[in-house]
Amino acid sequence: MDGECIFCKIVDKEGPADIVYEDESVLAFKDINPKAPVHILVIPKKHIGSLLDLEEADEEVIGRIYLVCKRLAGEMGIDKGFRVVVNCGPGAGQSVHHLHFHLLGGRPLRWPPG
Ligand code: 5GP
Ligand code: ZN
Repeated sequence: MDGECIFCKIVDKEGPADIVYEDESVLAFKDINPKAPVHILVIPKKHIGSLLDLEEADEEVIGRIYLVCKRLAGEMGIDKGFRVVVNCGPGAGQSVHHLHFHLLGGRPLRWPPG
């Protein structure tokens, strides 16, 4: 837990969020500024700053996050076309320094992303 981290606050229910999934190690909630009709953020409850901060011990929670993405893609009706994105570092536009996986869908997704 990082006291200044907005996503840690959401994990601790100290900040508002529209939560769509929760288990012991993973939380998923709607992005406050959605870039697609479906835009969910799937995060480890543990504070991990970015992909560059991943450790061997985090292997299980990362696998779990992908299973949650699969489940939510089905529940949200976007399983015919969706994208899971992790922005890492300032050059990729990472603005919140708690690792998060964007689950995006509900509109055509162009490739490559900008
Ligand atoms: P990044 O730019 O770091 O890859 O993505 C951060 C995402 O978090 C953005 O899409 C932004 O809209 C979202 N976000 C930032 N603050 C909040 C918040 O307080 N609540 C929610 N639900 N989403 C947030
Ligand atoms: Zn955090």
